[in-house]
Amino acid sequence: MTLKNKVAIVTGAGNGIGESIARRLADEGVKVVISDINLPGAEGVAQDLKQKGCEAIAVKANVANKAEVDAMVARTVEAFGSVDILVNNAGMSVVGKSVDLEEQRWRLGIDVMLSGVFFCSQAAGKVMIQQKSGKIINIASVNGIGAFPERVCYASAKAGVVMLTKVLGCEWARYNINVNAVAPGYVNTDLVKDLAAKGTLDVSELETRTPLGRLAEPKDIADAVVFLASDNSTYMEGHTMVVDGGWSSYGYLESWLKNPGE
Ligand code: NAD
Repeated sequence: MTLKNKVAIVTGAGNGIGESIARRLADEGVKVVISDINLPGAEGVAQDLKQKGCEAIAVKANVANKAEVDAMVARTVEAFGSVDILVNNAGMSVVGKSVDLEEQRWRLGIDVMLSGVFFCSQAAGKVMIQQKSGKIINIASVNGIGAFPERVCYASAKAGVVMLTKVLGCEWARYNINVNAVAPGYVNTDLVKDLAAKGTLDVSELETRTPLGRLAEPKDIADAVVFLASDNSTYMEGHTMVVDGGWSSYGYLESWLKNPGE
């Protein structure tokens, strides 16, 4: 990969998939801004990376707050001189029956997972347009591609991210900026563990519904992001890369996956 000395911002990098993405980019020699609404989480990851000899800083930013996002990008340029890669990863779960979903939860989910992706892309995009180069990678979800009941806010936000990826990719291709997305299936992170603990998800059922027979690990998603951040993917534009163990390809009976015979 051709990533040494590039500068990346990863949002929601204090935990889960974002942390794994930040660590994988740092392994490739990228200078990483560990951005999160949870500053102690971000500082813990940045500190650990620095102890390993990587260049990293922690920045507190709520992606739904445009002023904080603009300050995050300004801090990145001040610290490292450019923004070569933006990974829009920050997210949250919003699960519940559509008929009862409170206005506040709907607005928060859309603010963080759709408006947040736009604000971060816009702020980093201004720097990338000046540079005439950049890579933006959005973390969407299979929930934004196929319908999952009781996830109307989450799924609508993620479907919005899939379209935002196409529009910005087509608009900014002329500046040598690649805008692509990764749509993970279920990933073994705190987000999924919390839903499983509440009884909202059954992990063994999810594993059975997945042709590869397991949830993704954060590194599976980070590997795809590193590819999209590298010069090995320069002709990809506006594309959402599904990384789901076959979940969305599979359209047949669940019973066949449980018992496919010889
Ligand atoms: P996680 O809960 O483990 O981590 C999310 C991180 O985002 C946390 O560090 C949290 O503090 C941060 N965050 C939350 N709101 C924020 C805000 N407003 N501003 C800045 N940071 C904020 O979740 P995860 O499982 O690692 O999910 C990461 C991304 O991957 C999310 O966008 C999620 O929708 C997506 N995703 C996850 C799965 C999965 O199965 N875990 C599947 C598909 C997509």
